[in-house]
Order: sequence, then structure tokens, then C-alpha cells
Amino acid sequence: MKKLSRKTFFKGIALGTLSLPFAIRSCGSQNTAQNNNANIISGKKYKWKMVTTWPPDFPALGEGCNLFAKWVHEMSGGRMEIQVFGGGELVPPLEAFNTVRSGAAEIGHGAAYYWRGMLPAAQFFASIPFGMNAQQMNAWILSGGGLELWQEIYGAYGLVPFPGGNTGVQMGGWFNRAIETIDDFKGLKMRIPGIGSNVLKKAGGAPVLLAGGEIYTGLERGVIDATEWIGPYHDYKMGFHQIAKYYYTPGWHEAGTMLEFFINKQKFEQLESDLQAILRTAALAVNHWMLSEFEAQNTIYLEKLIEAKVDIRRFPDEVLQQLRIYNEEAIMEEIANDPLAKRAYESYDNFRKKLANWSSLTEKVFYNSLQVE
Ligand code: CA
Repeated sequence: MKKLSRKTFFKGIALGTLSLPFAIRSCGSQNTAQNNNANIISGKKYKWKMVTTWPPDFPALGEGCNLFAKWVHEMSGGRMEIQVFGGGELVPPLEAFNTVRSGAAEIGHGAAYYWRGMLPAAQFFASIPFGMNAQQMNAWILSGGGLELWQEIYGAYGLVPFPGGNTGVQMGGWFNRAIETIDDFKGLKMRIPGIGSNVLKKAGGAPVLLAGGEIYTGLERGVIDATEWIGPYHDYKMGFHQIAKYYYTPGWHEAGTMLEFFINKQKFEQLESDLQAILRTAALAVNHWMLSEFEAQNTIYLEKLIEAKVDIRRFPDEVLQQLRIYNEEAIMEEIANDPLAKRAYESYDNFRKKLANWSSLTEKVFYNSLQVE
């Protein structure tokens, strides 16, 4: 991995999906297979641009975009080249969605909750507080009808979405105040995005909007008392352990954030079917790689934080329970006046509730039985 300067690391920092139907569709008839061969023989070449919400070569996230471009190039025998732009290189990070809609770039990568302001339904395809973890998100998106709904919702915006990675369970954040009861959130100035910020407000806290590059200084100077970021890998590189007293778990606000590729629908539909299949397959490969990379690197960087004698604490159960109640209220407010968001949430929530029965019987029991040495 390329080493990043702090400046590059900060630059451009702002604030899931393949299913069985894909496999069935891609099998096709004999005629389709012959047509595909004709497409390959035609050898038409494509040069696409990818805009992302991440700084260039950003660990795991930007690197996954680079891998996507490399794998598509290899799988297509050089017929498709994708140039990856970090946030701010071609357009600002949060303009990626509209840039791909307009066709100024053919493909983008980001997290669907970034589009919450213009499309509240989108966030359910990234993460909501107390939501599903990475494995559960994959189950909903890939096998539980999530992808079809996601494609329908983005289709109205001229986009085709695919799952593009997952951060895994995030950490609860860095605090300069101990959290022992829910009252400790009163007056707490914290950088936390999305619905999590509404939850914090309900607990009496004050969410503060800071760009990635401003968080370290904000925490150091007391502009904020706390911040969430991602997990040990990225948080260590940000240097938060040098200026914050406590590192809290779990990341109740982001249990498994799914990342996304979104492709201009018209451009996608103009592609030969084998190139469409290559893009879908590369997206799935990145979806798998990115979560693996996060897990492996977080393990290594957690050790570094432990060596640095960071005070790692767990939010008390009573605190989490109260945050969960506030979260239910916040989500109901979020979907109250938006039928599309309501539909996305209901699909998400129905799947989550059914899956919870299975997970409680298996993984929960298994994890509870583990002895950590
Ligand atoms: Ca986060």
C-alpha cells in the first residue's frame, strides 16, 4: 500500500449486491451465448472514469476502487479501462452521485448514506444505527431482495447500484469524557454523521459537522468532545489515540456499513453483456475483498492501540438500550413523510427481524461462548 501523508489522508474526506437472479439472467440461451462471443470478437474498447468519495488511494476504500479497475481490465482482456479519481480530483467527493447521473463519469464509488439529503431511502443500503452487520447486509442485498429494491430506487435516478465493500462493525468513537450513564451525553459535542446525529441530539448531545481533515484539530482544541470515525486501522492513522482519553465500543451507529458502486444506467445498458457481467463480478469481488481487508488490518492496528495503552471501554448496556429507543424514534421521524424511505426501511427491517431469530440461535450463542485471552 502506498504511504499517505496526513494531508493526502485528510484530503477530500467528507462528512449493497448480486443475487441469484443475476446468475440466472447471465446464463441466457444459446443464442445469447453466441451473441456474447460476437461481442468479444468485435473488440470494442471503452475508457471510463470512476469518481469516488474517498481521498486518492485511501486505505481499503480507495484501494478497493483501484483493484476494481485492475480486475475489470484483466477480465475484459484490456477492452475496458477505468480511470479512478479520488474525491476532489475530478469533482468534490459528495458530487459523485450527480456526476455519474449526468454521465460526466460513468461509474462512482461511495456509501449510500451520503445521499440521504436528496434521497432518504438510500441510507438503508449503507447503514443505519443498530442495524445489520456486514454478513447480514450481504444476506439482505444478495439473497433477500435488497438488491432488486436498491436497483429500482436508483434506477429512477438513472443509476445501477452494486455492492462495493463493507467496513465491518465500526468502533463507537473517541471520547474525552467517560460515558457511564445516558446523562453523560448531555452537552457532549460529537462529530457523528447520519441518523446517529439525530440520536445524539435526543440524548441531549450536540452533533457537530466536521470534514475529515478538521476532526483531529477540533478534538485537540476542545471544539468537539468526541468523534466517531471507522475502526482501529483508519483511526490509528488519524492519530486520535494521541489526543483522546477513551476509545469506546461498539459502533452502535454503524454495525456494518456497505459501500457501493453506482453506474450510469444508460452507459451500462449499452455495454456488451459479457462486460456487464464483468462489472457485476468485479463489484462482488471488491465487496468481499474490502471487508476482509478491514478485518485483517483492524486486527493489526488494534494491537498497536493496545501497545499505545489506549483506554478501550464498552458502552454500558443501559446506555445502549436508551440509545436504541432514541434510534427507533429517529428512524420513524426519518421515514414519516417519505414513502420510498418507508418502503426501503420496511424491507430492511422485516429481513433483519427474521434473520435475528437465526443469528440469536447460532452466532450470538457462539460468540458468547468465546473466551478472549
Ligand atoms: Ca463511521
